[in-house]
Amino acid sequence: MAEKKRLLQILDLVKMLPRSNCKECGLPTCMAFATHVLREGAKPELCPYWQPEDLAFVKESLNAQGEDTAYPDHLFSARKFVQGKIKDYDFSEVSERIGARFEPGASGEDCLIINLLERLYCVSKADVEAVDGADHDLWDHVLLYNYVAENGGREPTGEWVPMESLPGSLAKRKAFVRGCEDKIAAAYTGKPEELRAALEVLKADFPELESNAEVAAVFHPLPKIPFQMLFWDADPDDGFPAQIKVLFDETVLDYLDIESLVFLGEKCAERLLELQ
Ligand code: SF4
Repeated sequence: MAEKKRLLQILDLVKMLPRSNCKECGLPTCMAFATHVLREGAKPELCPYWQPEDLAFVKESLNAQGEDTAYPDHLFSARKFVQGKIKDYDFSEVSERIGARFEPGASGEDCLIINLLERLYCVSKADVEAVDGADHDLWDHVLLYNYVAENGGREPTGEWVPMESLPGSLAKRKAFVRGCEDKIAAAYTGKPEELRAALEVLKADFPELESNAEVAAVFHPLPKIPFQMLFWDADPDDGFPAQIKVLFDETVLDYLDIESLVFLGEKCAERLLELQ
């Protein structure tokens, strides 16, 4: 057992784990699990193979170290669950359906390169890595795995629909407005040109649309999921705040479930705010 007075290190945890890399915790190796426990607040109990006294010691030490839990347990469970869904997928077949690039791996670790908001991620059955090594989080993993798990469907048709017309959206619409549309509208109030510039970074097109919106853009947060984003700036004379409305291709739920779509909207807002 590790020395009690010293701060726990990753190797301390690895020494206590079986080092079998069995992946039952949802991570590819015991080392990766130990890193997630210490750096990202993963619950140690997610590995079922601790010696009870080691687990008790680790929990006590983490409490003493004042570790915050960065991710809720259900997020790790969600990733594990969705990893289970894709375990038998043939990535070489999936890639075309979801607009990803297939990269065969040396030891069976095939990878899908997926563009999420103009950042590339390498998604293997074991883990997700940002191609440029940039910071990303477990929420991104779950989103990307869900996108892979849906395994595509009809090609986008160009028929735009509002969220409220999607099945199962009733309870989710508010979360989408709050987490995506309202955030972007507030951040870009009085700045339509800045919004346009940020959308250009996301490789948006600005088609002629039958709309009086000041900015009307189409971009792809994920390869087969286009968003049509409309922006009306605030009208101080009439007291109207700025407004954003996002429309989806009618096929959107072939590519992502409604909850993940809400999360994708939040990611869009986060990215557009970063680009200010
Ligand atoms: S479940 Fe435990 S033994 Fe298996 S890989 Fe994860 S940390 Fe290692």
